[in-house]
Amino acid sequence: MILKGKKALVVGVANKRSLAWGVAQSFAREGAELCMTYQTERLEKGVKELADTLPGTRTLMCDVMNDAQVVTLVEQLKAWGGIDILVHAVAFARTEDLEGDFKNVPIEGWHTALDVSAYSLVSLTRAVAPLMEGKAGSVLTLSFLGATRAVQNYNVMGVAKAALEASVRYLAMDLGPKGIRVNAVSAGPVRTLSAAGISNFAKMLDFVAERAPLRRNIDQAQVGDAAAFLASELSRGVTGQVLFVDSGYNIVGV
Ligand code: NAP
Repeated sequence: MILKGKKALVVGVANKRSLAWGVAQSFAREGAELCMTYQTERLEKGVKELADTLPGTRTLMCDVMNDAQVVTLVEQLKAWGGIDILVHAVAFARTEDLEGDFKNVPIEGWHTALDVSAYSLVSLTRAVAPLMEGKAGSVLTLSFLGATRAVQNYNVMGVAKAALEASVRYLAMDLGPKGIRVNAVSAGPVRTLSAAGISNFAKMLDFVAERAPLRRNIDQAQVGDAAAFLASELSRGVTGQVLFVDSGYNIVGV
């Protein structure tokens, strides 16, 4: 029960395969109270059905690119008594920008990927930081190896993840004096809705399972458990870091 007494906002649950859903399940097991958001009404029924399996979990709608919805979300969280933890598990790039030559990415595709996948961490953290004051807050986001290595077809999303990881460090500098920590989990490939948009994703899964030190792919529960550690007081000396949950794949050379 390392999260007993903590309130967590989890942004980015689309369905039962979402990494954010793995995080929510680990957090609930560790005693956290949860609020999960969904992006559009289209996802409401499915996300509410998942939330119902974790007693006491609230659900709210919020498109992180919609300022008015973020303001409403913050008001609702204030009425809930503030939060201790923010989990940002949001990313988006246009399908056509996740294949072919990286050099062909147009400015619109660049903006979409970086705005939704990286800037939203900054804007959401800014919005909820006042709710965490005096609470030893923890902000978490999800990254991928494509931030620091060239991964085939990951393309503009790799640039977005590089911006995301740099933002983790700058946010950690800003918020450290207020006692708020900011970290990322860099997950190995997992079959999710977003992952389906990356060309040849199945090949990536096979490649990692063959070469990773642990010789297997990871799952959402492993991401959830690492996130629970980073959200808890057990990691109270850790901020501005990227923790790899990838069966060790990132350390492999040839
Ligand atoms: P997922 O289930 O599709 O989750 C992505 C979430 O982002 C969805 O809930 C999506 O909602 C949401 N989202 C996109 N635009 C949004 C917006 N404007 N406002 C609010 N929510 C928005 O896929 P996932 O793989 O779990 O992705 C979660 C995070 O993990 C992402 O940052 C991803 O890059 C990262 N990650 C994934 C892997 C992997 O292999 N799966 C590996 C490393 C890191 P909609 O469905 O409505 O668009």
